[in-house]
Amino acid sequence: MFDVIVVGGGVIGATILRELTKYRLKVAMVEKESDVAMGQSRANSGIVHAGYDAKEGTLKAKFNLLGNLMMPAYTQELGVKYINNGSIVVAYSPDEIDTLYELKSRGEKNGVEGLEVIDTETLRALEPNISPDACGALLAKTGGIVCPYELTIASIGNAMDNGASLYTDYEVCEIVKGVDYFIVKSIDGRELSTKIIINSAGIGSGDISKMAGDDTVHISGRKGEYILLDRESQGYCTHTIFKTPTSKGKGILISPTVDGNILLGPTAQEVDVPDTDTTSTGLDYVKQTADSMCVRVPHYNTITSFAGVRAYSDTHDFVISHSDKVEGLINVAGIESPGLTSAPAIAKYVVEELVSALLPLVENTDFDGRRQSDHYYSKLDNDSKNKIIAQDPRYGKIICRCEQITEGEIVSVIRRNPRATTIDAVKRRLRAGMGRCQGGFCQPQVAQILARELGIPLEEVTKSGKNSRLIVGKTK
Ligand SMILES: Cc1cc2nc3c(=O)[nH]c(=O)nc-3n(C[C@H](O)[C@H](O)[C@H](O)COP(=O)(O)OP(=O)(O)OC[C@H]3O[C@@H](n4cnc5c(N)ncnc54)[C@H](O)[C@@H]3O)c2cc1C
Repeated sequence: MFDVIVVGGGVIGATILRELTKYRLKVAMVEKESDVAMGQSRANSGIVHAGYDAKEGTLKAKFNLLGNLMMPAYTQELGVKYINNGSIVVAYSPDEIDTLYELKSRGEKNGVEGLEVIDTETLRALEPNISPDACGALLAKTGGIVCPYELTIASIGNAMDNGASLYTDYEVCEIVKGVDYFIVKSIDGRELSTKIIINSAGIGSGDISKMAGDDTVHISGRKGEYILLDRESQGYCTHTIFKTPTSKGKGILISPTVDGNILLGPTAQEVDVPDTDTTSTGLDYVKQTADSMCVRVPHYNTITSFAGVRAYSDTHDFVISHSDKVEGLINVAGIESPGLTSAPAIAKYVVEELVSALLPLVENTDFDGRRQSDHYYSKLDNDSKNKIIAQDPRYGKIICRCEQITEGEIVSVIRRNPRATTIDAVKRRLRAGMGRCQGGFCQPQVAQILARELGIPLEEVTKSGKNSRLIVGKTK
């Protein structure tokens, strides 16, 4: 019997799982996909929002600010890349200047420090490629960027190193409530029992809540499509550039990523099912909007496009509470933007305030919150690399030419918590296949390493779990 089962391996479940391991609790995470960080925590803008956007008094405003303040130390402890690059909200017509002052005032009420409305000249000095239409901006110095899936994977890996269990390919299809426990069943017939369920299933969190007996959580999906530019565009902009928001939301942004790419997007389109296909209409809209925001956008460096689906609640705020209907169920649902930013703060609140009201929390004095980055090897100087290669020659063999990823690093993420068992899982941990050629050269080799390390036939290696096989049979 577990004390707590966390349903959903996105950044919210991940940070909660890690927080739980700071206490002497038996905890597990169940995730329906073959890997963690495959929902909206895989495909988002990666912005650590400053906190001027959410309406004062909302949970979004509260956790955005706290999460923003926690993020530098949180990422440093886990070896996750984070850059405090600052955000700017640009007015592209004089009548938008008033909105900048409204955002500044709202941000200040939310507790955000360092907000400043800047003139065109200062804006141009910060971002030389800004459109000639720009006539002022709100500068939020505390805005930042982070890699969302790296943060998720590192939090879960660290939680597992501190004793948590992870069950992947575990799609919860039924929850049976006992007197003071639950049985959580998966579609493949597995069953786990637990005293508490934390429902952080993203777009599936309405269904999970209903399975447990609470039908009050209503979640819908809004798709966002993106275009990613190659690292050759690095330096095109250094801040995250937003348009002045409208009633429809923050709109399209242009931002550097922590890995040196440039990101354009996202769109906002209501969807009934978790649909992550990109469309020519959506991507054209992203391009055209980016061209209206900045000049000479280097579209020729486009290497890929992708989409993520925001899971939002009909309350239009985060749902973070004990269920009123089912004792032992904690809903952490409707965590749309700024959920990535808020994650460490939400996790602390959920464990310290909500779990503690149901179970006594005894400190785990063995907890070690540090984790070596999956990218540590690439950061070493040549002498240090040579020492490692002398012990393990696989670190001298480059597999991904674009990103310079070695066989040794790939083997390491296949063996390390949470284990990479698919080609995309290796890609999310190391960026093998994320460069200019998008895996054209390295994918077959990564597949062979996976087959060897997992002890499975090459035909059984998948791109991203389930039926996503690359090889269907032999021709001769
Ligand atoms: C387009 C877009 C842009 C965004 N930009 C930003 C941003 O710049 N900054 C920011 O702060 N936030 C941003 N967000 C919001 C942020 O991505 C989310 O708040 C955050 O990722 C939510 O994480 P989560 O863990 O709740 O959900 P998810 O990451 O979706 O995780 C839920 C998990 O539950 C699993 N699951 C679902 N059903 C079941 C089941 N039946 N059994 C088992 N597992 C199940 C899913 O497979 C999934 O892995 C953005 C979101 C989107 C979509």
